[in-house]
Amino acid sequence: MVSPNTATPATVRQVNRAILLNLIRTHQPVSRIQLSGLTGIYRSNVSFIVEELIREGLVREQRGKPLGRGRVPMFLSLDPDGFRVVGVSIRACETVLALADLTGRILESRAFRTPKSPATWVDHFRSSLDRFRAASGPATGAFHQICISVPGMVNQASGEILWMNALPNYSGYRLRDVVESSTGIATTVANDCHLATTCERWLDNTAGDLKNFVFLEVGDVGVGAGMIVNGELCTGHNSTFAAEFGHMVVDPSGPRCNCGRQGCWELFVCDRATYGVYDPAREFSPSRFEELIRLARAGDRKALRAFQRTAAHLSLGISNIVMVLNPEVVILAGRLTEVWDMIYPPLANAVSMLPGKPQIRPARMSAEELFLHGAIRHALSGLFAAPQLG
Ligand SMILES: [Zn+2]
Repeated sequence: MVSPNTATPATVRQVNRAILLNLIRTHQPVSRIQLSGLTGIYRSNVSFIVEELIREGLVREQRGKPLGRGRVPMFLSLDPDGFRVVGVSIRACETVLALADLTGRILESRAFRTPKSPATWVDHFRSSLDRFRAASGPATGAFHQICISVPGMVNQASGEILWMNALPNYSGYRLRDVVESSTGIATTVANDCHLATTCERWLDNTAGDLKNFVFLEVGDVGVGAGMIVNGELCTGHNSTFAAEFGHMVVDPSGPRCNCGRQGCWELFVCDRATYGVYDPAREFSPSRFEELIRLARAGDRKALRAFQRTAAHLSLGISNIVMVLNPEVVILAGRLTEVWDMIYPPLANAVSMLPGKPQIRPARMSAEELFLHGAIRHALSGLFAAPQLG
């Protein structure tokens, strides 16, 4: 009997296949001999897997320049047209979807107004897919994987939306199952900030190997977050949530939060809170917040004070996070990074006194771009990631 944690020969081949495809992606153009040297996998086994990848259209082979005596080396690279994925980002007002190739490059994107009903959403989504198909033509009309980014709590194992504050009717909706049965395409559904976190890691790992970091998205009315610990995204023991730093209670007698408790951190650092300090009499809106950023940049003292107060609250929360997790980096996304030169000094000062001294930096893309690109990367990740044992 095979133990549940033992690798079968098929699992080993799958692992090697993912490793080779990843190396072709990062070293292309690359020869079979080089792949064998990089991995220690026998050349015959490399060839066996490479032939399979070529047959499936994921990899293509091209002749290099002849080497003495007429020997012509063959070089391998990814075939961008060999795989099509659809990355989707649901936001409270708008849904954006993008068709991307094997390298993650966006070929085409579309958007529609997010309806209040999830069933209507699925209808709109299917129409958008049909338009992608019509534009791609029959030869490239097959889509292999869909990943949907959701601004709420998701059971990543079942693809069910557990709780979505911005779109309450979506809570309890089994989005993955409905999309899969209505499109026939393998689908995953994940929390937006978890996808943004893995996207940041993907972007960062072109330069190094970032294995321990925290991602924070300061949004209109809340804080989303994700964390990578020892190279793995934390999703909690039952794949539903983790890293909900926005709901750390920092003032037990503070205002009531949507989570049912009082004085959560996000109520002091979100864009609405910053705007409330500047002008408590007017209601917050994203366009008013843009105006506040413009005023702060122009040196308006009242606007500057609002951002200073937010920076002080951010410092408090980030210091707590650093003391618990000791990350290498804390990455911040959100509109507030547009005034980075104002908020960074107090944050850097606060963490400089702590052990570990993590770097604090803005995200490499806007939060919206990270959600969409994160979904695209996730849709491709099955090809490049080794399967789990057991
Ligand atoms: Zn809360």
